[in-house]
Amino acid sequence: MAKRDFYEILGVSRSASKEEIKKAYRQLAIKYHPDKNPDNKEAEEKFKEAAEAYEILSDEDKKARYDRFGHAGVGQNTGGGGFGGAGMTMDDIFSQFGDIFGETGGPFGSFFGGGRGSQTRGERGSNLRIKVTLDLEEIAKGVTKKIKVKKQVTCDQCNGSGAKDSSSVTTCTTCRGAGMVRQVRTTILGQMQTTTTCPTCNGSGQMVKDRCTKCKGDGRMYAEELIEIPIPAGVAGGMELSMRGKGNAGRNGGPAGDLLIKIEEKPHEELQRDGMNLIYDLYLNIADVALGTSVEVPTIEGRVKIKIPPGTQSGKIFRLKGKGLSHVQEYGQGDQLIHVNVWTPKNMNDEEKKLMEKLRESNNFQPHPGKGDRGFFDRMRDYFKD
Ligand SMILES: [Zn+2]
Ligand SMILES: [Zn+2]
Repeated sequence: MAKRDFYEILGVSRSASKEEIKKAYRQLAIKYHPDKNPDNKEAEEKFKEAAEAYEILSDEDKKARYDRFGHAGVGQNTGGGGFGGAGMTMDDIFSQFGDIFGETGGPFGSFFGGGRGSQTRGERGSNLRIKVTLDLEEIAKGVTKKIKVKKQVTCDQCNGSGAKDSSSVTTCTTCRGAGMVRQVRTTILGQMQTTTTCPTCNGSGQMVKDRCTKCKGDGRMYAEELIEIPIPAGVAGGMELSMRGKGNAGRNGGPAGDLLIKIEEKPHEELQRDGMNLIYDLYLNIADVALGTSVEVPTIEGRVKIKIPPGTQSGKIFRLKGKGLSHVQEYGQGDQLIHVNVWTPKNMNDEEKKLMEKLRESNNFQPHPGKGDRGFFDRMRDYFKD
């Protein structure tokens, strides 16, 4: 299913200020708040959708990338490919944007130190950053990269509990094993009773007497993991994609961090990239452009033959429609542009020089550029035309 535009979701214009975006989100969050709409799936979806839009548009960096590249810029275009914020849980939303509800902490809020009303179980793992270098062929088609990533994973000796063995685990005395404690908060919606993660056990419901020897009680260890990274066609160097939950493991059952993938481009030997277009510099000798010929040129899909008509001028641009790159976000396909350069010999033997001397005086060899003979302005027009 195609994702809705984030500005549309929040009902603001693309030029909306930070304050307007915050205000719009706040109104939606109140309207669709789960406490006000119990057991209403549709409201919950709307609530999540708004939170996702706000997550991107409230962050200057992410907003800039979204404005430029759309959902793909914030790693959300591949739907179901493991990318993006679609998998955001209610806990994530509260832990990230709890402050937008303007909580004052309430009578128990400060006691539990849960001023932000975090409902996330355990501690979220940190984000992991990697670089992926792609060649032009991979960018043209899109590619799934399998990459070994060294990261924190759940400890395989204690299964993340951090305990030496089962006898060294006792039930948490603060929450009596529930992992959650009740809390009354004063919010803009009035007094709300909510449950929040137990601060003693971080939501695990358990306390550990003797720690696991392998992870020293952390519940995590370092390991290599092979991660499949689906990369859409048309990405560009400098873009950053994100895969939710593929970063470092969380503590005490907390969610894993994200994997952030920075794209780097390996330059192609023959083709230059200019946005969605590919450019090839073709060098021809004076006889070939004067008499006409046919030549092979490289494209991203292999070599193709093109016809050079007699009388082709230096600077002429031939266009192979649709042989460029696809747009990462929208419909559309770039072209390949073939730029003709006439090669002037640098060394000639006596015989060649004599021939040239003869041609130099010939009337047909005198320049007389007419319409369409590709001066600088013609060339620019060629280059930018659709
Ligand atoms: Zn362990
Ligand atoms: Zn507890």
